[in-house]
Amino acid sequence: TLTAGVIAVQGDVSEHAAAIEKAAARHDRTVEVVTIRDAGLVPDCDLLLIPGGESTTISTLLAEEGIDEEIRAHAAADKPILATCAGLIVLAADAKDDRVATLDLLDVTVDRNAFGRQADSFQTPLDLTGLDSPFPAVFIRAPAIDSVGPDVSVLAQWDDRVVAVQDGPIVATAFHPELTEDARIHELAFFAEG
Ligand code: GLN
Repeated sequence: TLTAGVIAVQGDVSEHAAAIEKAAARHDRTVEVVTIRDAGLVPDCDLLLIPGGESTTISTLLAEEGIDEEIRAHAAADKPILATCAGLIVLAADAKDDRVATLDLLDVTVDRNAFGRQADSFQTPLDLTGLDSPFPAVFIRAPAIDSVGPDVSVLAQWDDRVVAVQDGPIVATAFHPELTEDARIHELAFFAEG
């Protein structure tokens, strides 16, 4: 049984728990989901999910609780992380916004709310490297990735903007793969073969 930690200081938590359980089942694995609001739990996690929500709030609370350092240690140990939307912003090198203390664990910069207020929420089929059919991507006040470091692979683009990336054990999406029944991105992040 794998221990899957879902960062739960703020944001959509139960959806990620359901998605990771579904992804694990498809690979004949079981997971125990731990919701993380305090320090002390991340060190026991095999994998981590950092959900969407509000990146200013999430980054502040992670630092206040001391969870930020535990996430750094998890990443330093090359353990997998899936970060979605605000989670992507939190992991980025720079969000170009002083209100977000990013962890700088993923060599990308992001534009918060890149898709504008008018189109702040939409769903679109998205071609994604590693998946054999389009993924139903739900974007909610989504960031876009506007620069990508040399070790980071682009997994998907939408409207000429990078919206999903991978750097080794870290997968990050600007959209919300936990908000549909499709658990393939959770599978890709945590149970990919090879
Ligand atoms: N726009 C939000 C932020 O900047 C992210 C939105 C989301 O996670 N759905 O934190």
